[in-house]
Amino acid sequence: MQFIFAYNRVFGWTEVSSAADLLGKRYSDLLRVSSIGQSVLGKDLKLMSFGRGKRRVLYVGTHHGLEHITANLLLMFAERLCAAAERGNRLGRAAAEYIFATRTVDIVPMLNPDGASIAQSGVFWQANARGVDLNHNYNAGFAQYKRMEAEAGIAGGCATRYAGEYPESEPETEALCTYIRQTEPDALVCLHTQGGEIYFGYDGIVPRGTACLAGRMARRSGYVLSEPTGMASHGGCKDWFTLEFERPGITIECGHGTNPLPPELATSIYREIEGALLEALL
Ligand SMILES: [Zn+2]
Repeated sequence: MQFIFAYNRVFGWTEVSSAADLLGKRYSDLLRVSSIGQSVLGKDLKLMSFGRGKRRVLYVGTHHGLEHITANLLLMFAERLCAAAERGNRLGRAAAEYIFATRTVDIVPMLNPDGASIAQSGVFWQANARGVDLNHNYNAGFAQYKRMEAEAGIAGGCATRYAGEYPESEPETEALCTYIRQTEPDALVCLHTQGGEIYFGYDGIVPRGTACLAGRMARRSGYVLSEPTGMASHGGCKDWFTLEFERPGITIECGHGTNPLPPELATSIYREIEGALLEALL
């Protein structure tokens, strides 16, 4: 795989933004680059959109500070889609031009740029700048989660697992939910690290097509289908999407190792998951 950028290095918000902008310029006929809103500290939450089809799939990376390598993975995905479409190549099981004509691929590579920046300074940090764990800040089992949070002794903003005062209290989650409500994607794929696992459904709710898609993604990547337990449950993006839209919502725990995964692994992890990412577009 050939890429314009060297992706096997740490990408902070500055690198993510400039890579997205440069991809948008290089592939100006194929990729639209905009923003869905701003973080607590005023950083643009970049959006890359490929294609002009009716069926819409949204990919979101970097809910969690330490998991910033997921932004690299989604930038690579955008670049691969554009490069294949320009050359008239296939990507996975479909021609990239067919994907462009029949799908809209929305990619938010870094939902939590402030948290990524804190984590990149060497601190253990999953939350946003206010200490809210964005992937517990969605309206799915929120009250239930708040009880678990209290039992775990979490009383306020901290590095991980604090859900915030109320669902969508944070500008990052509010911006994403607003965009989702406006565009009503047919499927949602959230990238986290690590463990080589794929999660789907929420609280026993598995919308039509979800298990089948998750199974295909597992086969393509060699990752294992799993169910979240304990405090990993509730308040997540795919949880809310599953409840609200009753459409496939998938979480991929990319790669193996300890967070933050070494940036040198970015391209090899991308190779593991590309087929799975493409399955959501079929
Ligand atoms: Zn995560």
